[in-house]
Amino acid sequence: MIRDGDRVAVALSGGKDSLTLLEALLMLQKRAPVDFSVCAFTVEQGKFKRPIDPLGEYLKQRGIDWTCYRDGPSFRLLEEQPTHGCDLCSRFRRRAVYEIARGLRANVIAFGHTADDFCESFLRNAMFTGRVSALPAITYSRAKEFRLIRPLVFVGENITSRFAESLGAPIIPCACSERTGTVRKSIRSLFSDIEKDYPHLKESLLSAMGNLEPERLLDTRYLDLDGSGSKSTSEVEPLLPILSD
Ligand code: SF4
Repeated sequence: MIRDGDRVAVALSGGKDSLTLLEALLMLQKRAPVDFSVCAFTVEQGKFKRPIDPLGEYLKQRGIDWTCYRDGPSFRLLEEQPTHGCDLCSRFRRRAVYEIARGLRANVIAFGHTADDFCESFLRNAMFTGRVSALPAITYSRAKEFRLIRPLVFVGENITSRFAESLGAPIIPCACSERTGTVRKSIRSLFSDIEKDYPHLKESLLSAMGNLEPERLLDTRYLDLDGSGSKSTSEVEPLLPILSD
């Protein structure tokens, strides 16, 4: 994910996951066999529950290079369409993220999505959009201007919660996190119900994402329809466990 000479900009959301990611990358920077720099930024879209300044203070004390960007178009969107959905909000944020990363001269943008986010996204897409897909752990922005990475793909939120708490850093939640009746909330509660009896559910889901059997699904692009056996097969990679305690 990270290569020699990279400048990695960490997208700090104000939550425990991206803060964990930032600290993990700073630790990695000291011992990695490749040389890379790390900076952090936050997009203020008017969604934070509390002022973000304490986070800035914390980062300053830690000597972390942080940029907080108040995104005017997102504030206007909030005024004009206060009940706008996540799709629109994410589109506005993506534009702002690229603008900031460009200003920071970063070539890599790191996001704090965790194993839980990957599993939720996998289920949400299958159940509500009719696609078998999740989040890409590594991908590129259009025109390959930025490499987009999600290094916490195998890290569970039980770890990020405890790690962030141990830092004593201010966590600034997003007001949306309290919304009820959302698909995300429903999927979270579905997971927590099933996990009472099957605690390794998410490990299994993550393994499934790296172990496709397309010939047993319904996408005709991957079916051996004429019996010629011409579909491609490849070795299955060993399973990677979710890091959890
Ligand atoms: S949860 Fe709130 S901040 Fe997050 S994408 Fe949706 S509208 Fe935007």
